[in-house]
Amino acid sequence: MDLNWNKIVHFVNHGTPEPSHKVVKTEEEWKQLLSEHEFAITRMHGTERAGTGEYCESFEPGVYECRCCGHLLFDSNFKFESGTGWPSFAQPVTNNAVKYSGDHSYGMFRVEALCNVCDAHLGHVFPDGPEPSGLRYCMNSASLKKVIYMEETSIAIFGGGCFWCTEAIFDQLKGVVKVESGYSGGHIEHPTYAQVCDGITGHAEVIKIEYDPLVISLHDLIEIHLYTHDPTTLNRQGADWGTQYRSVIFYRSEEEKQLIQTVIEKAQPDFKDKIVTKIEALSSYYPAENYHQNYFRFNSENPYCQAVIPPKLKKLREKYAHALK
Ligand SMILES: [Zn+2]
Repeated sequence: MDLNWNKIVHFVNHGTPEPSHKVVKTEEEWKQLLSEHEFAITRMHGTERAGTGEYCESFEPGVYECRCCGHLLFDSNFKFESGTGWPSFAQPVTNNAVKYSGDHSYGMFRVEALCNVCDAHLGHVFPDGPEPSGLRYCMNSASLKKVIYMEETSIAIFGGGCFWCTEAIFDQLKGVVKVESGYSGGHIEHPTYAQVCDGITGHAEVIKIEYDPLVISLHDLIEIHLYTHDPTTLNRQGADWGTQYRSVIFYRSEEEKQLIQTVIEKAQPDFKDKIVTKIEALSSYYPAENYHQNYFRFNSENPYCQAVIPPKLKKLREKYAHALK
């Protein structure tokens, strides 16, 4: 991060770097999701009274998301006491998290800060913050939602055919702490590999990805998943047939579900056939037997792995070089 006031002014004049996706809703839809107060601040460019917001005095570790769309905006490590009565940050999490716009209201020039994903009004940015950025992001609490991670990592569960292959892909990514093979989406407890392979338990072969959301986002993980398997073949990956090989992404909240839908819609034009990836609520996850874990690393001579995995890794290296370890 190398944001400073000159950069901010440049963004105001020439546009902020594009976000990874956009969220667009009608006024009515926002009203359904937000309280009257939140709507007035975020969608009508309001300002809460100084000292009244819930995050003025809050300094415990955590991250701050957009109240409207859940996009990650600020990290508590860069929050400081400005004495203004509004929560203040020295910088956002990335150069394209916040959108900057010139605001000439009240006969002065100020820089308005908006969520770059959903255009929610957040507050204003001023050039009188602490070094090194020298910036002060003066925010409305009502525009933010603080998330305190119990642990520093989050999890994602994907199915994309044989889990040996999907595991080998995600192991390569920066911010991915651990990848485990397992079973999700079925209707019996503690299934075995043999039962899952029979295709009668309803489980999919999946991988559980433990990742650091400050290094790699769920959005990027979903996108990488879609581009490194075939999301257009129903219950099939190459020579592997059956519902246990279905293309699937599990969600744990409504926000995750919406994000998955958004990423799939965005990826669709890149595929000739319709994306048939299932979006399923996560109800259970069972780790696979030990001998499946890190299978490709220990069995890279296996003819199946030889045929299927290297082409996938090649695709990953070409398209996502910046995200690799
Ligand atoms: Zn937003």
